[in-house]
Amino acid sequence: MFEAGADDYVNKPIISAELLTRLANCVERAQLYRRLAETDGLTGASMRRQSVRVLGRYIRLARRQSRPFSVAILDVDHFKSVNDRFGHNVGDRVLSRVGGLLVDTFRVEDVVARWGGEEFLVGMYGTARDDAATRVRAILSEVRDIVFQDDAGGEFSITISGGVAELSDASATLDDLIRIADDALYAAKEGGRDRVIVAGDPETAD
Ligand code: GH3
Ligand code: MG
Ligand code: MG
Repeated sequence: MFEAGADDYVNKPIISAELLTRLANCVERAQLYRRLAETDGLTGASMRRQSVRVLGRYIRLARRQSRPFSVAILDVDHFKSVNDRFGHNVGDRVLSRVGGLLVDTFRVEDVVARWGGEEFLVGMYGTARDDAATRVRAILSEVRDIVFQDDAGGEFSITISGGVAELSDASATLDDLIRIADDALYAAKEGGRDRVIVAGDPETAD
């Protein structure tokens, strides 16, 4: 029976309260395992592979419903020097805090993913690029104000940069959209960091 994939069994006569409790436990366990498998332990953001699936779904939905969809890629500025100066433990704490801020600030239906080492991706359904940029700028400002403690009793702060892109005819696929947001992020880095560049926006683009 277990070989066939059963999780558990109950003996007759079945006591409904016991059966329901066991089922509820089973579902809770399955949900916990799924959460652990889909969430990055350090930052609380979704893991990349899981997010790609959800982002793809949002893009199809946005096209079908003629709704805007924007992504932002956020990257910690000069993060290597945080590790170099204060050690990887402190670096991890910084990532954990930034990830937590993103998860808490964006809506539950937004996708907040740890995209790479010190890079996050946010997907915002129903949000056009200007509104997306406004929300991302608010995050930049909050990050700027966080006072981090190093292990020697000192304090430091960090900044992040962001690239924003909205789904359009020119960005037909998730890969296109991400590439365009990545180019905007690169421009934000080139432009001096601690800023948001919106792809295709003459006010912020090069
Ligand atoms: P830039 O402003 O151009 O983004 O510079 P940067 O230093 O942030 O970029 P770079 O890509 O040179 O360095 C990223 C660093 O992030 C290097 C890597 O060791 C560090 N990193 C990646 N993942 C983790 C992690 O999980 N924990 C810690 N502590 N560091 C990490
Ligand atoms: Mg960086
Ligand atoms: Mg990076």
